[in-house]
Amino acid sequence: MYSEIIDFIRATFHTPEGFIPLHEPRFTGNEKKYVLDTIDSTFVSSVGAYVTRCENMLTEITGAKYAIAVVNGTCALHMAVMLAGVKPGDEVITQPLTFVATANAISHAYATPHFVDVDEDTMGMSPEKLERHLSGVAILRDGGCYNKHTGRRIAACIPMHTFGLPLRIDLIAEVCEKYNIPLVEDAAESLGAFYKGRHTGTFGVLGTLSFNGNKTVTCGGGGAILINDEELAKKARHLTTTAKVPHPWAFVHDEVGYNYRMPNLNAALACAQLEQLTGFVENKRELAVIYKEFFEGRGIPFVSETEGARANYWLMTILLEDRIQRDNFLAFSNERKVMTRPAWQLMNTLPMYKDCPAGDLSSAQRLADRIVNIPSSVRIKK
Ligand SMILES: *Cc1c(COP(=O)(O)O)cnc(C)c1O
Repeated sequence: MYSEIIDFIRATFHTPEGFIPLHEPRFTGNEKKYVLDTIDSTFVSSVGAYVTRCENMLTEITGAKYAIAVVNGTCALHMAVMLAGVKPGDEVITQPLTFVATANAISHAYATPHFVDVDEDTMGMSPEKLERHLSGVAILRDGGCYNKHTGRRIAACIPMHTFGLPLRIDLIAEVCEKYNIPLVEDAAESLGAFYKGRHTGTFGVLGTLSFNGNKTVTCGGGGAILINDEELAKKARHLTTTAKVPHPWAFVHDEVGYNYRMPNLNAALACAQLEQLTGFVENKRELAVIYKEFFEGRGIPFVSETEGARANYWLMTILLEDRIQRDNFLAFSNERKVMTRPAWQLMNTLPMYKDCPAGDLSSAQRLADRIVNIPSSVRIKK
């Protein structure tokens, strides 16, 4: 069975031998042209025409009113956490099944992650588990939500659309509203993915994107903050631009700021990649159909978008029987140069987060034992 899978993946990627990466970038558009353009213009650094253009493309694609391009997705999250009003000593709810950046960004704002379980079908935060958990631990007072066991304020909630599969974000938003908790969406993996017709990352007060090298579109390193509120967008722009008071020559800064704005050089690459996003997502969705048919015909679950969701299928996922089977297949496929990967080790088991508050995390644990990501790059048509 394992070698049948490997043969199928090789045939699907028209790569009879050699390495097949998990997700590699495709520079098939205006990448070189735009990057050379920034070099010729000498405007390679922070703020430039491509940065504005990239931000405009992002608002067009996502429907968010404002997009602020920054140096990477982790910085985007750090700013989003701060802009949501999280203060040192607060708690921020997130899911245990995520890339470490989500939890780290909470730590960067001197707050503590508080883990709530995922749903097994979307692999993203579960609205039912969130509601059940909050009804047990939360108390509302002074206009805020507090953890009655730790006494700390629960200052934000950050669900993450795992592998580009949209979670039930509308229901999460309802629970957050009920408990007066600002919603921040980590949409780092879900650019081009929609839930009930709305782009992921636009359901809360803030959303964040990443354009890291392995993401659906990349600009080397990059990210963005999505915001609907004008005042908050102004604040985001200010804080990420070293809090410099705009002036043609004077250097005045009015608070502790961050040097987080995306350089024009990266933005050029981002613009060229974003022009191809629709095609990339179409290509990946076709691959998902091919994979689904193959794997489900062999009794192996392939994780598909749920009702109301339109996934970008950033990283495609199969579920093997258990940890033993998973590890056997990971070894078998990687030895044969077909790259596969397990889920991230759950955040609540990492040394720096093992003592953080958490609810019942049984679904995340079950998934983590079974998830295998398989090659998911945009395929070059032969
Ligand atoms: C990629 C990613 C980020 C941001 O990563 P950067 O490498 O800093 O751009 C954040 N959260 C999740 C879930 C991610 O997958």
